Amino acid sequence: GDLEVSVPVQTKDDYGKVIQTFNDMTLRLREAEDARRRLVADVAHEFRTPLSIMQLKLENYQQAGHHVPPEMLRIHDEVIRLSLLVDDLHVLSLAEAGRLSLDRKPLDLTAHLERIVDDVKYEAEETGLEIRLSTTSRPVTVMADARRITQVFINLLTNAIRYTPEGGKISVVIQDKVVDRNAVYTCVSVIDTGIGIPAEELAHLFDRFYRVEKARSRHTGGTGLGLSIVHHFVRAHGGFIRVVSEPGQGTTFTVYLPINNDL
Ligand code: ADP
Repeated sequence: GDLEVSVPVQTKDDYGKVIQTFNDMTLRLREAEDARRRLVADVAHEFRTPLSIMQLKLENYQQAGHHVPPEMLRIHDEVIRLSLLVDDLHVLSLAEAGRLSLDRKPLDLTAHLERIVDDVKYEAEETGLEIRLSTTSRPVTVMADARRITQVFINLLTNAIRYTPEGGKISVVIQDKVVDRNAVYTCVSVIDTGIGIPAEELAHLFDRFYRVEKARSRHTGGTGLGLSIVHHFVRAHGGFIRVVSEPGQGTTFTVYLPINNDL
């Protein structure tokens, strides 16, 4: 005989209950996620003071003219690394929780980038890289938090330096007024002639602690938080970032910052 399957009558009320349950679950997941982010931010914050004290004590000891055993220098290096990691983690979890405070003011992007490029020039040239900035002759002004924008470009430039072999080139190109999906942006591209990023890795690039091929990045000293921070800081400014890369040829990161008409 035929198999009879009985399906419970589905009233509007049943659907309503299912939807309600899903909404409750989503809300609870979001609350748990927020709590996790707050915890990370708070723990990172708590780590900062003891780490600063350790760093200061180690430096005082060295400056007092004591004989400094090599182990102590190692500890000093690790304390500095840990401090940087904790600062990155703190600011990243704030950004993820939407609690990042921005101090937005009119910022002359050209002059700002000139200073940043100047700051990394020594490091680039020391590793046999050429670095230059091309810009429009007009000043390009954006409403931005200068300190956060500095970190965005320091992170992108440090990566460009780190992942470009000797003899390579790094260019920073500013374009004002780029139209994308009906909005107007100022764009800054950081272009390198480095090792590039495989296509399948691009999707994860902005994830926390993500590093392409653990082996190749291990001794380059990064934390794997750099690009997540870049992503969140740019988003906090209402902008976005695009990446184009060709393994063996190089990588271009382009930061889009919206042009504020009220300027
Ligand atoms: P890290 O601290 O490891 O540099 P990031 O978040 O800054 O962390 O970058 C994530 C990964 O993306 C890096 O480990 C590296 O493999 C890859 N990457 C980032 N920038 C570049 C670049 N300009 N060229 C090649 N690979 C890059």
